[in-house]
Amino acid sequence: MLIPARGAVAVRVAADQRFRVIDLEGTQVVDLFAFVDGDVGEYASAEHTRVFVKRLFPKSGEPFVTNRRRPLLLLEEDSSPGVHDMLCAACDPTRYALLGHTGWHASCQENLERTMDELGYAGVEIPQPINLFMNVSRDADDALNFAPALTRAGDSVTLRALLPSIVVASACPMDLNVINGAGPTDAAVEVLDPA
Ligand SMILES: [Zn+2]
Repeated sequence: MLIPARGAVAVRVAADQRFRVIDLEGTQVVDLFAFVDGDVGEYASAEHTRVFVKRLFPKSGEPFVTNRRRPLLLLEEDSSPGVHDMLCAACDPTRYALLGHTGWHASCQENLERTMDELGYAGVEIPQPINLFMNVSRDADDALNFAPALTRAGDSVTLRALLPSIVVASACPMDLNVINGAGPTDAAVEVLDPA
């Protein structure tokens, strides 16, 4: 399923079902959100995951846990350079205003709100996302450095749902810093196993 540049899609995945998130053209960040299907008050939480795995950034073979500290997704395979972020909040209208943009700008937060609204879940919490392919590092003084994603066209990650989930993937619309290289491009999400 295509995730158009600056847009988002939602997919339902059953427990044990795998799905793949693909950076079609390279250098594109995809914000990933996941909610427990049937109880969207429980969702994948980067801040709880950092404690659970005792790491700042995702790594193959490790889970993402919910705000109730239950493993929800497992990062099974990674054909990308393996650089992902778990520190940054989703971009939102205020983030773009602070960067000097005037007028409306697409954002991962609005993408999440719209796709969940379309499924009948208005007003969901905005979890801190799993920022796939996002290249954030910290220097010796703990300052954050934002750099272009290192992904090449076709790089992907494969995740397994450990509980029935609603997954939202947003092709990040950020075009006011370098994280998406020359600009936002398409991505895709593909469910791999029959439900
Ligand atoms: Zn974004």
